[in-house]
Amino acid sequence: MKIKMLNNETINKIAAGEVIIRPVSVVKELVENAIDAGANHISVMIEAGGKNQIVIRDNGCGIAYNEIPLAFKRHATSKLTTIDDLETINSLGFRGEALSSVSAVARVQVTTRNENEEVGSFTSFEGGMLINQRVCSYNQGTEIKVWDLFYNTPARRKHMEKDKKEEGLIRNLMNKIALSHPNIAFQVKCNGRSVLDTPGSGKVIDVVNVLYGWEEGNNLIAVDYENSPMKLGGFIGNLKMMRNHREDQIFFINGRYIKNPQLAQALDEAYMGYTMKHQHPFGIIFIELPGRMLDINIHPAKTEIKILNESLICLLFKQGIRETLRGANLVVNIGDGK
Ligand code: ADP
Ligand code: MG
Repeated sequence: MKIKMLNNETINKIAAGEVIIRPVSVVKELVENAIDAGANHISVMIEAGGKNQIVIRDNGCGIAYNEIPLAFKRHATSKLTTIDDLETINSLGFRGEALSSVSAVARVQVTTRNENEEVGSFTSFEGGMLINQRVCSYNQGTEIKVWDLFYNTPARRKHMEKDKKEEGLIRNLMNKIALSHPNIAFQVKCNGRSVLDTPGSGKVIDVVNVLYGWEEGNNLIAVDYENSPMKLGGFIGNLKMMRNHREDQIFFINGRYIKNPQLAQALDEAYMGYTMKHQHPFGIIFIELPGRMLDINIHPAKTEIKILNESLICLLFKQGIRETLRGANLVVNIGDGK
């Protein structure tokens, strides 16, 4: 076989496959964009687990009429200029890949008005191509509608799960996003039914109460700990809130939801002496670390995060949780956990 250059359409579809794996990937990317746009009200409406339709609406800064075509091109971003910016970046996106990827594998309509413009615009895309753009009146903010996901990539379409499963993934994601952005009011509707409605009060506890109910809220211990270079916030459960699973161990580093088995292990270990084997404490924990201790540029989905000097951080983390437990006057004696 001869070596040849791939055409742009093929390159884009392959790249899109890395970012947009299933409906929840679309929701994640578009909601993160809405957050980056400074919205304090974001609604997500999905039909059939996102397989039929996904609509994300925000009241953020909006996109200017003549920047729309660029926003949907690969590697086009307003958030990053040089590689040095990565160290200090505090936006969720920076790769400039989401809009181009979504539009490469679905049909997309955008209605938006930029904060500095008098009129809004309506634009439609199909298979990554801009089909139609016109001005229209619209409130400040953006609404993106995505449907026929993977209509042109049958292999991906076949791999989507049942509606309920895809819906579950989206709800799970939105719960975590809502926890880490208590200042934003989130509304999520699945097939027209409201499944999440947070007040946007700025208080994490208000979101926790929406998710877990007031009853559980009474069993929470606030975490407020500092041991340079790490700061901890959030809530851990008392001994009534032990679980036999780890689904309610949720970690955020610098506001970003992350998965990290070492931290989960450290949380379990911090409860040593309080708990029985195979029990996992409840924890919604916000960790703050200097950006230089992290490498977030590790995977497009970005839930994996590389912590430099991870074992030290886990140790500090464990200490912080143990001190919090000590301060909470739990009736059980502290065992030999360090
Ligand atoms: P990234 O988020 O990595 O910059 P995206 O492809 O997700 O890349 O978006 C490209 C650009 O489009 C963003 O940098 C931003 O300027 C603009 N944009 C996307 N979504 C929104 C939105 N909801 N509101 C305002 N601007 C947006
Ligand atoms: Mg983005």
